[in-house]
Amino acid sequence: MQRYNVDENGFYGEYGGAYIPEILHANVENLKNNYRKILEDSQFRQEYHALLRDYVGRPSPLYLAQRLSVRYGCRIYLKREDLNHTGAHKINNTIGQILLARRMGKTRIIAETGAGQHGVATATVCALMGMPCVVYMGATDIARQHPNVEKMKMLGAEVIPVTSGNQTLKDATNEAIRDWCSHPSDTYYIIGSTVGPHPYPDMVARLQSVISEEIRRQLQEKEGRATPDYLIACVGGGSNAAGTIYHFLNEPSVRIVLAEAAGKGVDSGQSAATIQLGRLGIIHGSKTLLMQSDDGQIEEPYSISAGLDYPGIGPLHAHLAKTGRSEVLAITDDEAMAAAFELTKSEGIIPAIESAHALGILKKKTFRPEEVVVICLSGRGDKDMETYTNFLNAEAQSNS
Ligand SMILES: *Cc1c(COP(=O)(O)O)cnc(C)c1O
Repeated sequence: MQRYNVDENGFYGEYGGAYIPEILHANVENLKNNYRKILEDSQFRQEYHALLRDYVGRPSPLYLAQRLSVRYGCRIYLKREDLNHTGAHKINNTIGQILLARRMGKTRIIAETGAGQHGVATATVCALMGMPCVVYMGATDIARQHPNVEKMKMLGAEVIPVTSGNQTLKDATNEAIRDWCSHPSDTYYIIGSTVGPHPYPDMVARLQSVISEEIRRQLQEKEGRATPDYLIACVGGGSNAAGTIYHFLNEPSVRIVLAEAAGKGVDSGQSAATIQLGRLGIIHGSKTLLMQSDDGQIEEPYSISAGLDYPGIGPLHAHLAKTGRSEVLAITDDEAMAAAFELTKSEGIIPAIESAHALGILKKKTFRPEEVVVICLSGRGDKDMETYTNFLNAEAQSNS
């Protein structure tokens, strides 16, 4: 049988591994040797699940979207990660990792952030645990994502602007790794998606797998069967998708359809469609598909959604796509925006633009009336109001 889980060397097929500077070797090795023991420890699980329940607000509801279901001729459920504290799925992971950091005796937390969502989720749990927090963020992103920068600061994090390279996520990641190299003994690096050196992709997938654990239970209750016909999610680095599919990977009757960001079009030169355009390379300590120029320079990705414009893709997702376990469709800016307005008007839910990419898949497939479709609504749209408003204004202008 095809294996979808990580192997003992940290690989998913040909993707993954841990390509890190020598100085971090002991740290990553220590994490690798302990993360499963800690994650499976009963006291850890108790603490983690108590916080998920009382602080994050889990389980997140599985909502049968009636009007959307009528429109697409099937039974569409939304997994409401948008209702979590801080507005997205990212907090599931940061809660788990900070508990793990504390277990490992670490006293200082670092993170990198692009759009600022992971930075806010990290600053939040650092405030909760009373731990110092340093967040690296590209200067370009700081200018683009001001509300999140203000939130991180209010939460007590130190936000360090990164002015190398394009001053975006990849550069912030390099700085965070550099910091970790200088403080390997006291510092824990919280990575925000299923990316980075082994064991991070597997660890983050396990922490987010609470999503699919809940989906199984909730579907059993509502539909009398634990498995849906389709699971749909968006992929940036791949953590909300990994969490959504984790407990269904070995059930071939469950079809997995994922949305990556096509930006202005896969062939426009302005996209983040890594699965379609990427070639094998190393980013962030992991061997995976990567958007790169002919001479191996990482290409700056583009998407209207700040959370999806990562030039790589988690190694799990590269492997699932390669083996055909998942189908990955590229959804353009315009398709995602149309899907966001459709959800808003038909269900009264304003989604994050990332999540709207997942909703964009509905128009690309045909469903039968009895089919059960679960879509991960990874986050809420509050953070995106300016983008939505600008988009509507631009449309109004071009129509007048
Ligand atoms: C960060 C983010 C994503 C993308 O990250 P993944 O690791 O691919 O899940 C998707 N949706 C929202 C709301 C986000 O904040």
